[in-house]
Formats: sequence, structure tokens, C-alpha cells
Amino acid sequence: MIASPKGKIALITGGSRGIGSAIARALAEDGYHIWLNYKKNHRAASEVMRQIESIGINCRLLPFDVTDPKSVAEALSPLLEKETPYILVNNAGFNKDVLLALMTQTEWKEVLSVSLDGFFLVTKSILANMLRKREGRIINIVSTSGQSGMPGQVNYSAAKAGLIGATKALASEIAKRNVLVNAVSPGFIKTEMTADLDEKKIIPMIPAGRFGKPEEVASVVAFLCSEKASYITGQVISINGGAYM
Ligand code: NDP
Repeated sequence: MIASPKGKIALITGGSRGIGSAIARALAEDGYHIWLNYKKNHRAASEVMRQIESIGINCRLLPFDVTDPKSVAEALSPLLEKETPYILVNNAGFNKDVLLALMTQTEWKEVLSVSLDGFFLVTKSILANMLRKREGRIINIVSTSGQSGMPGQVNYSAAKAGLIGATKALASEIAKRNVLVNAVSPGFIKTEMTADLDEKKIIPMIPAGRFGKPEEVASVVAFLCSEKASYITGQVISINGGAYM
């Protein structure tokens, strides 16, 4: 039985859909109050909030673009004066798949920015408070693409590999302050991000013979946020049905 988090807060970026919404629901079920970030899909975010509130957990919607320093500061600074999330899940992600030979610099920069500027801006906003409290968990959602490299995803693979490096470096910097930092690396998971992929071509590459579910990623994030994971930091935990070993 996981110890009750007694009203602690979890901030999830990109929580309106897919993996982020499953993480928000899983952490709410474990008793964490939720700060739910998303970019623009208010309707989807409101539905996640409704689901969370239906189990008696508070959910605060925080629409902002994680790549925009002003929006991040405006949304978080007033809240952080009073409260500090115990958990930050940097889940917001974005892909724009195209061969490098045809990639524009905008496609390169936009994809890197959501993963890397998003991580930098949101984590930096919260980190001083976490360090002062000497407790916290930071989970960065990366990708198999950032471990193995994926053709057509040079930008996305670079973004996620960069985030893996940032995870390990930050974990080393702050482990002594009892703030643990890990990366969770999904393979092919059924969400809007993978909706246009041809499953028939991809499934033969996955030993488990199927795409994963957002809930299968969320349960690992919930474990890493629990007391049971108190000595795990700087790791990359893969959830990919064996697609990359
Ligand atoms: P979705 O495309 O389904 O959802 C993306 C989420 O990120 C939405 O909540 C979206 O908000 C939000 N978002 C996008 N850009 C921004 C931004 N600039 N600022 C704030 N929020 C933003 O993605 P998935 O659920 O599939 O993916 C979640 C994470 O998992 C991503 O980091 C992705 O790279 C990673 N991942 C996914 C895999 C998969 O197979 N699905 C595999 C490996 C990794 P809004 O709804 O408002 O647009």
C-alpha cells in the first residue's frame, strides 16, 4: 500500500490528452492534487478535470505554452508564492516528422523547444522551492526515439536524447537535496500523436505485438513518484513492449 501523499500537488504539463491525462488521473487516484497544464485544448482539459474532481481531488487548469517564458511565469509565479508541487511531470511533447534533408529550421526548433525549453522553463520555475523543501520528484517523458534514433524524426530524437541528458545531469545536481529526477521512455503508445501511423507496419517491430496504452505509462510514473521508488534517480525507464532493449 502506497503511503497517502496528504494533499501534495502534482503538476503535469501536456495533461489534456493522451499520456499526460492518464498520468494526471493515476496521480489523482494516488491522492495528489493536480495542476493540469495544456496549451489550447480547453475542452479536453476540462473533461480531465471533471474526471479528477469526481473522485474528490482538486484539479487546477493551467493553460500556457511551456516554450514561452512570459506565459510560464505568469501562470506559475503567483501559485508558487503559496504552494509547491511535490511532483513535476514534464510530459508536454510535440513532433513534426520529416526527413532531415527536407526539414526546415522552424520544424527543427519547434520540436526541440517543446521538449527542451519546456523542461528548462517549467523545471526552473519550481526547482528552488523543491530544493528549499528538500523533497520532490521530477519525471521527464522522453521516447524510444531519443534512445535508438528514429528515421524521419531527427528533430524529435535529438529533443528526447537531450532531455535524457538533462535528466541525468539534474539528478546528479540535486539528489542530496532529496529531489529525484528520472526519465520515462515510452515506445509506441496509442494516442493522437500516433493516430496516423500504420499499425500493420509497426506491430511486427514490437515483440509484445501491440501498441501500449497511456495507462501503462502512467502506472510507472505513479510508481516513480511513490515512496517505493525513494532510491531511484537519474534513470531512464523504458515502457515499449520490448521494441528497444
Ligand atoms: P498528445 O499529442 O496526445 O498530447 C500532447 C499534449 O501536450 C497535449 O496535452 C498538448 O496540449 C500538450 N502540449 C503540446 N505542446 C505544448 C506546449 N507548447 N505547451 C503546453 N502543452 C503542450 O501526446 P502523447 O500523449 O502521445 O505524448 C505525451 C508525451 O509522451 C510527449 O512528450 C511525447 O513526446 C511522449 N511520447 C509519446 C509516445 C506515443 O507513442 N504517443 C511515444 C514516446 C513518447 P493541447 O491538448 O492543449 O494541445
